[in-house]
Amino acid sequence: VWVINNMEKGCGFVMNPGSKILHRAGRQGLLRTKRMRKGFVTVSGMSSDPLVRPNIVVLGGGFGGLYTTLHLMNMPWSRLQKPRITLVDRSDRFVFLPLLYDLLSGSMSTSEVAPYYVELLQNSDVKFQMGAITSLDPDAKTVQVHGKDEEQNIEYDRLVIATGAEPVLDSIPGAEDHAFAFYGLEDALLVKEKLRELLGSELSSIKVVVIGAGFNGVELSSTIADVLGERGCVTLLSRDDGILKNSKPHNRKTAEKSLRKLRVNVETKASVDRIVEGAVFFQSESSEEESIQADLILCTAGTRTSKFSGFGKLPQNWRGQLQTTKTLQVKESSGIFALGDIAESTDVSSATPSKATAQAALQQADYVAWNVYASVADEPSLAYRYLDLGEMMSLGDHDATISALDSINLSGKAAVAFRR
Ligand SMILES: Cc1cc2nc3c(=O)[nH]c(=O)nc-3n(C[C@H](O)[C@H](O)[C@H](O)COP(=O)(O)OP(=O)(O)OC[C@H]3O[C@@H](n4cnc5c(N)ncnc54)[C@H](O)[C@@H]3O)c2cc1C
Repeated sequence: VWVINNMEKGCGFVMNPGSKILHRAGRQGLLRTKRMRKGFVTVSGMSSDPLVRPNIVVLGGGFGGLYTTLHLMNMPWSRLQKPRITLVDRSDRFVFLPLLYDLLSGSMSTSEVAPYYVELLQNSDVKFQMGAITSLDPDAKTVQVHGKDEEQNIEYDRLVIATGAEPVLDSIPGAEDHAFAFYGLEDALLVKEKLRELLGSELSSIKVVVIGAGFNGVELSSTIADVLGERGCVTLLSRDDGILKNSKPHNRKTAEKSLRKLRVNVETKASVDRIVEGAVFFQSESSEEESIQADLILCTAGTRTSKFSGFGKLPQNWRGQLQTTKTLQVKESSGIFALGDIAESTDVSSATPSKATAQAALQQADYVAWNVYASVADEPSLAYRYLDLGEMMSLGDHDATISALDSINLSGKAAVAFRR
């Protein structure tokens, strides 16, 4: 999905983390924003006091935050309006999360999957501030960031919140101590190292249990089965009566076939009760407690929004996502915008909230950048519209599946090549 989206943007920058390419990405975004305005719903501007060189602070440098920053750089600012942009992230690397499976399988390197922000932003005026966001004070318009050695107070005129989501391990007893998550770069490197150790051991059969049969669980179990080859004995536990319940039918069928080929054992209607060292206990379809031995346990079931102190002052939905207006401003919060997994963003024409995907975050970045600019330059804002381009999954190193634009279905080598 993100590849399609990126190709449309013309910015395959992860393979070439050079600033020229980033500038091109920003320009493309601006051109598209201009095109967008022709057919899109506009909303009157919000600025009454003209701001001179406003401070724009972007919290979180994932798909939503980084792309908003890139587009902001290329808005048609006047000399007086030209903002000071600060991007804050706790990590020094942008992580292209959908490529973590390629990192795990060894087909891509860490620097390809997770380039440094300083490289991505070189030759730009953006200030990258590495540190953990600890609190937000919307009344004082400040953000507290815990850097390497010091606590910093950053003032803002416009704030963009894009801190994404994080895995939840505490919902299953024992998971925090005995299971690994697979969500960020550190997780992927840890799991990779663990697989390397297991492959170097004398075990003839390496038992791996993956909990959760959504996109992450299916892609992860396929990749691991591929990496372990003949010695792998991978089990995928699904609470539902099948896998990928929110996926397109073509992708679900292809994934089922691929898992069979990779000899991944799929246990359906398996609700995990607890995890102890080396074993997972679950209720099976017959309501009896069963257990399964494992040399490695991975939990992909559940995420929650990444919050910080002061977040509670902003309106949220039942999932803890920030509620936004149709122009992606946080409701009842002047000058604060939100996008990506942290936000509930609803398409203005279908009134449907977007899913938490990179595809949605990338599309929202265009709107947020324009609307931040519009709020400073007193231009009309744009109401958010989402275009579902389809979905794409990796199924081990040799298979993938793509279902795009309602009529394009690909699998096998063509899908692998297209996805890469
Ligand atoms: C393994 C995996 C595979 C995926 N595959 C796909 C796919 O194929 N297609 C697709 O569309 N989507 C995919 N997704 C989902 C997609 O990656 C997310 O929806 C997308 O990254 C959301 O973008 P975001 O900007 O909201 O958050 P993120 O990209 O998660 O970025 C959030 C950023 O905020 C930073 N941050 C968070 N809290 C703090 C804090 N307190 N202080 C400082 N920094 C902070 C984080 O370090 C991170 O850089 C995948 C996700 C995972 C985990």
